[in-house]
Amino acid sequence: FDLKNEDLKDLQELGQGNGGSVKKVEHIPTKTIMAKKIVLIDAKPSVRKQILRELQIMHDCHSKYIISFWGAFLADPNICMCIEFMDKGSLDGIYKKIGPIDIDIVGQVALAVLEGLTYLYDVHRIIHRDIKPSNILLNSRGEIKICDFGVSGELINSIADTFVGTSTYMSPERIQGAQYTVKSDVWSLGISLIELALGRFPFSESTSDGESDSDYEGTLSPARPGSISLSGLPPARIKRNTPKKDKRKSKGVSLQGGGMTMSILELLQHIVNEPAPRLTPEGRYPKEAEAFIDSCLLKDPDSRKTPKDLLKDAWIEQARVSTVNLEDWASTF
Ligand code: ATP
Ligand code: MG
Repeated sequence: FDLKNEDLKDLQELGQGNGGSVKKVEHIPTKTIMAKKIVLIDAKPSVRKQILRELQIMHDCHSKYIISFWGAFLADPNICMCIEFMDKGSLDGIYKKIGPIDIDIVGQVALAVLEGLTYLYDVHRIIHRDIKPSNILLNSRGEIKICDFGVSGELINSIADTFVGTSTYMSPERIQGAQYTVKSDVWSLGISLIELALGRFPFSESTSDGESDSDYEGTLSPARPGSISLSGLPPARIKRNTPKKDKRKSKGVSLQGGGMTMSILELLQHIVNEPAPRLTPEGRYPKEAEAFIDSCLLKDPDSRKTPKDLLKDAWIEQARVSTVNLEDWASTF
C-alpha cells in the first residue's frame, strides 16, 4: 500500500544512530505497528528520488533472517523507511541490559546472520556493509533478523558525503581502503559475536560495561572508499570529531586498560597491525566456537571464508541442530 507520513502515529523513540533516528509508529489505516527510520540526507532532489528507487529492492527481499520492508517515502529533508518492528530491539541493547550472552545463543545469532548474508548476496548480490550488534534485531517470537544493509549505492554515497561512519567493526582490508566484499561482513560478524559473548566491545580491555565515556568518536570523516590512509599518520590522538549539521548522538569508542585510552585512529591502526581479537579466556567456550570466530577474524581476506562457506562450519552445524529455544530466552527479559 501507499505509505504516507500523515498516516503514521509516533508511539515511541527506539534509538538514534549516526545516520538518523528510529521510532516505533502505528500505520493508522491498517493498525500496523512499524519501525520508522528517518535518515537526514543532504542531497539534490534527483538523488533523493534515485535513493527512493533503489530502496524499492527491499520489497523483493524475502527471508526470515532479513527485516521486512513496508516502504519508503520522502519527507523533506529526510528519507523515511518503514520496516518491520522488532519488539526485543537490537542485540547491543540486549547485552547491555542482561550482560554477556550465552554462547549457545550466540551460535544461533551466527547462524541467522550467515543465512541472512548468504540470502542477500546469492539472491540480490547485496553486501551488507554494516554488520554489528545494533543491526541485528530480535523479536519475542525468538526470530533474529538483520537490518540496515547497503541496498542503495546512492544512499551509501549520500551518507558518506554528509556524515561518515567509519565503523570500528571494519575489517583490516577495508581500513586500508580495499573494496568491500562479503568477507568484510564476515570480519564484522566475528567482532560482533565476541562482543555478545563477552558482554563488551572486544577492543576494550575494561572489565566494566562496554560503553565508556570516551572523548573520541566512533567515526572518522571522510571515509570514502580508499580515503583512509593510516600510513604516515602519527600515532597521536585525533581531535574530537563533532558531527556536522545536526546533533546526532555520537558513540564513543575507546580502548581502555591500565588507564590507557585509544583514539579511533589508534584503534584502526591496532586492527590493521595487531593480531585479531579472540574469544577469551581460552577454554571457557566450546572449541568449535573458538575456531569459528578465529576463522571469521583471519586478517587476510583471501584466507577468510564467505558467509556461504561458513554455513558448513562445525559450530554452525551444531547450532542448526541445537535445542536452544530463542523464544523462551527472549521471554526472560
Ligand atoms: P548506526 O547509525 O551507527 O548504524 P544504530 O544501528 O544503533 O547505529 P539506527 O540504525 O539508527 O542506529 O538504529 C537506532 C536503534 O533503533 C537501534 O540501535 C535499534 O535498537 C533500534 N531499531 C532499529 N530498527 C529497529 C526495528 N526494526 N525494530 C526495533 N528497533 C529498531
Ligand atoms: Mg542500525
